[in-house]
Amino acid sequence: MDTHWAIRDLRCLELLYTIKRINRLQSIMPRKPASSLRLVEPVRTPRDAPSTTDQIVESITGAIVEQRLMPGTKLVEQQIADVFSVSRTVVRQALNQLARSRLVTLLPARGAFVATMSAEEARQVFELRRLVEGGMARELAARITDAQIAQLRAHLQDERDAVKRSDVTGRTRLLADFHVILARLLGNEVLAELIADLLSRSQLIALMYQSGHSAEHSQSEHIEIVQALEKRDGRAAAKLMEQHITSVERNLRLDPRSPDLAAVLRPKT
Ligand SMILES: [Zn+2]
Repeated sequence: MDTHWAIRDLRCLELLYTIKRINRLQSIMPRKPASSLRLVEPVRTPRDAPSTTDQIVESITGAIVEQRLMPGTKLVEQQIADVFSVSRTVVRQALNQLARSRLVTLLPARGAFVATMSAEEARQVFELRRLVEGGMARELAARITDAQIAQLRAHLQDERDAVKRSDVTGRTRLLADFHVILARLLGNEVLAELIADLLSRSQLIALMYQSGHSAEHSQSEHIEIVQALEKRDGRAAAKLMEQHITSVERNLRLDPRSPDLAAVLRPKT
């Protein structure tokens, strides 16, 4: 991918991402109770406005989730600083934050790169997702409200529309959001952050290991999960979620395929 294009693309994404976050994600999710404890209050000026560091983090995360930044792409500090009209120090803070969530790799004397992931790490991400998201689906079935079911149905409709009009960026984002929304419906912000992090990494994995899992397939599996939630069938919801994650993983080419040397060298007849 052309790095310069990718960086300029971040600018558009900043706006897009902000609008999406506000309009689609946060508006349909329960707000954190005012009494919720925060160990560290983020320093923000003016209050409640996201800092530039946060904006850069969100833009790059958004580009990764929407699979528009390829693993291994160099993130040039100066270019990002120019795009956001900030100092390289601010950019470095953002890159450090992304490195902590393993979306970015910092190499001494070489700079920042969109992370790449080993097949083993990829397997571990999917294993963790099965454990966490299976339990999450079971828990949610026990306490989901009718209003929340309606919210999920509206989200499924958005997914369906995006798949139908072959909006690759939109559907990639919506299909990933589905999992984060389930976590938020539980009202557990720590869980939602964990799932968002795992989803971002799953998207990198899907890009690296050529996912053959179609958007249509994911969409229909999401519908089944919501149907189980609607029936308040926790066991079925957990099982369907685990199967869904397994089927996404199975469609990755994670097994290092040693080429069949004889087949490669055999003269064509
Ligand atoms: Zn999914």
